[in-house]
Amino acid sequence: MLEQSDIEFEERIVSREPIESDGDDFDYSLRPKALNEYIGQDKVKENLGIYIKAALNRNESLDHVLLYGPPGLGKTTLASIIAHEMGVNIRTTAGPAIEKPGDLVALITNLNEGDVLFIDEIHRLSRAIEEVLYPAMEDFKLDIIIGKGPSARSFSMNLNRFTLVGATTRAGQLTAPLRDRFGIVQRLELYTPEQLCDIILRSAVILGIACDKSGAMEIAGRSRGTPRIANRLLRRARDFAEVMGGGKITKEIASIALDRMEIDKLGLDSLDKRLLEMLIKGYNGGPAGLETLAAAIGEEAVTLEDVCEPFLMQLGFLARTPRGRCVTALAYRHLGYEPPSVEGQTSLFS
Ligand code: ADP
Repeated sequence: MLEQSDIEFEERIVSREPIESDGDDFDYSLRPKALNEYIGQDKVKENLGIYIKAALNRNESLDHVLLYGPPGLGKTTLASIIAHEMGVNIRTTAGPAIEKPGDLVALITNLNEGDVLFIDEIHRLSRAIEEVLYPAMEDFKLDIIIGKGPSARSFSMNLNRFTLVGATTRAGQLTAPLRDRFGIVQRLELYTPEQLCDIILRSAVILGIACDKSGAMEIAGRSRGTPRIANRLLRRARDFAEVMGGGKITKEIASIALDRMEIDKLGLDSLDKRLLEMLIKGYNGGPAGLETLAAAIGEEAVTLEDVCEPFLMQLGFLARTPRGRCVTALAYRHLGYEPPSVEGQTSLFS
């Protein structure tokens, strides 16, 4: 029998970002290559399919595309699908990696006609870089200034037409001029358990993992609506299946594996629970400020804000109020506590 201590729990297994134990090629090998292999996000797929077809018919490059939504939902995957469907190459970079305007110039001038430039975390580009990007996006031109002071000279350079695909988890942080230059803006939604079940079954085939539908559904229901988490839990469940269950992931094996990983029926992990319990036991249900809560449970405020809170709010377990965070009656009950009837908080605790 596996003991919990046999498994490395240092990394947060329900992190939406890639974690070290995923391995370098993990996301890559599981990425669908064509639009019809991409599961869910029907509205986005349908729209992109039409825009791509129209651009191909007109023999033009695709308009610039902005994809936004939480990490792990398939933005990078969609960017490479766009390139694949358009029959062009893709160059991939990320906002923080472009430090100087020269870095961006080097990237853009190396693009062939119609190529896709994918910039992940595009909200983290500096102002100076954005300024270079505007004419490049709008007129396929670079306005470059060489030298400083009175001897500075500016000249303009024509570029091949290209498609910029930008991805961001925080559309609100994008500057208005940058946002306005994207002709196509698409928001990715959290996936339903049924869609995640299909993704898990597809990944199981690729990875050669035996997994039946009820096992996939059990994992899907605890994956926080996120394919990256679903794929990771599938791999971890395989370890349990091999050691404890003859190699096949069934509902029972998946359930044991996920319980051992301390991921409950709704996908909450120990950090989510610590946050909710701190609010319940330490602050009578709230309100409590984010920084205060983060210090109380020894976690970074950004982790709580970006990772725990969106999911807890989606479940209806947590509310952000002007005075701070509050838990709801649903959260009390889920954790096995009786919700208090506090004057003034009746809307949250009813
Ligand atoms: P993001 O860029 O939004 O963080 P990724 O595109 O890297 O997310 O996707 C994370 C993982 O989830 C990839 O390994 C990919 O295989 C899988 N994935 C995402 N969306 C889908 C989908 N619609 N169908 C199948 N697999 C998906």
